[in-house]
Amino acid sequence: MKKILEILFLVIIISGFPALACAYGINAHKQIVVESAKIWQEIPQEILERLGGENRIDWRCSADYDLGDDIYIGSAEEDNVNNGVFCRGTFSEHTESNEGLNGFLEHFWDPDFPSMTPLGFEQRGYNCNDDGKLYNLGLLDRIDFLPSLEPECGDHFDSNYNLAQDYWENKVIPYYRQGRKDEAYYWLGRVAHLISDLGVPAHVQLRAHDPIIASKDLYEDFVDASLVRRYTSRNYTRRNPILGHEYQFECLPNLPCDFDWKSVHPNPTNLFKLFWYTAQKTQYWAGANKRENLASYGNDFYSTLDGNIEIFTPNLWNGEAFPFESPLQLTNRRRNRNLQEMADALIPHTLKAVAGLYRLFWMEVNAPECPNEFGPPGSLVYMCLVEGNPGIPGDGVIVDSVGDLNDVVDEIRFSLSQPISLRPLTNGITILAFPDSALPLKNDMQFFLEFSVANRPECGWGLQTQATIGPEINGVQGYSLSLSLGYLFPSFCGGAGLDSVYITNVELFPLSEGRVPIVTRLDAVALGNGLWVLP
Ligand SMILES: [Zn+2]
Ligand SMILES: [Zn+2]
Repeated sequence: MKKILEILFLVIIISGFPALACAYGINAHKQIVVESAKIWQEIPQEILERLGGENRIDWRCSADYDLGDDIYIGSAEEDNVNNGVFCRGTFSEHTESNEGLNGFLEHFWDPDFPSMTPLGFEQRGYNCNDDGKLYNLGLLDRIDFLPSLEPECGDHFDSNYNLAQDYWENKVIPYYRQGRKDEAYYWLGRVAHLISDLGVPAHVQLRAHDPIIASKDLYEDFVDASLVRRYTSRNYTRRNPILGHEYQFECLPNLPCDFDWKSVHPNPTNLFKLFWYTAQKTQYWAGANKRENLASYGNDFYSTLDGNIEIFTPNLWNGEAFPFESPLQLTNRRRNRNLQEMADALIPHTLKAVAGLYRLFWMEVNAPECPNEFGPPGSLVYMCLVEGNPGIPGDGVIVDSVGDLNDVVDEIRFSLSQPISLRPLTNGITILAFPDSALPLKNDMQFFLEFSVANRPECGWGLQTQATIGPEINGVQGYSLSLSLGYLFPSFCGGAGLDSVYITNVELFPLSEGRVPIVTRLDAVALGNGLWVLP
């Protein structure tokens, strides 16, 4: 039986398979990127101009950027990406010619599995690499009537989120910064497609639902472009708060603004926050396929990195909708009304997510560039902190009220906005912190540095050492510390070398406990490649 199916499958490939769209039809995807632009009301004209979609959409298996492509075209073409499995029938997920990309087979993500698979194995890394092991649980190799569809480098495909993060880091943001704006917008469209897919329960519950690999998903099939359009109509928006409600990654609806992101990701990017929230919220809903008995239950929980299961409190849909978690709701006599109810919740949810993506894009491409690595040996780089942009000494405060003056706790903590790889450091490291202080600096401070190892959350450690006063730069006195890195690695992180170690946090600490910190504002923080590096 298996053999026959394989042969059938290849015949379909060779004969050019019929419409093979994933996550809504392509038309629904295009409509979503257009309607989402109406949700974020401050959207710049520059983005609106990238939604025209005048170009032709590349044929399936041949999607790439062409002159004139924009967000609209990108959002359509994500479903037409060349991949070994469907386009050449190699059954190999990772081939040289596809760079490990597999189109719609990588449009799935279950965010409740940070590092393991449902069978208790470690997830394999993104694109068959060793690193990037977190949150990579995509479609599982258990597609019922096609057991031969095996991802070559593990028992699951890459996740929707990791694919998006890869596009974001390597295409969307750098292309824009390099002045290749048209390309950046095309890839933004591809990422918009991915986050739209996370608005479909089947995609966050790993249920294959495609005319080729399974039957259609009931909900996805229910959604078309004209339905999407309805949720931005005057008739709808007059009665429902949706305009101006784009998801803001800093503070998401029904999720506490001080949510402990570190409990779910060691280095959560802004894009991660948006994707994780979108997927988690969609997961509340049940789903079912059309012809097979494939169904998935909804859930209202998430898993921390430690593997603890937590219930969202409040419910992420609080005040918005009442999700149903049983797939029976999609097969009973009320099924049509239930599908409509899902669309009434999930389409606005999707539009807000894509609108939030546009906003995040705009913020990131217009933010001053934060160095994410050390310069060449002997050089010094000024760092961005979570709280603000990089500064040089004397140009003003970048972190205010670092210490709480009423607080006797002596810890004052400045987090780097992104982890910095120690890779180039063979001659040691210099840390400089410049307080903004009217008083002369006191010689009783210590640095506390935190290190982590890529993809080994169990492997973080800290190092506490006395700070030295000086140097003075632009008239501002700083604290400094130089370290050689030979003794840095604790034995429980066996095998970790400079290549995989990151510095994540820098703190300044008064030596004498219980004192009010002298440093409450910070002017600049710098990291130098080598011992006693000065500008
Ligand atoms: Zn898709
Ligand atoms: Zn789909």
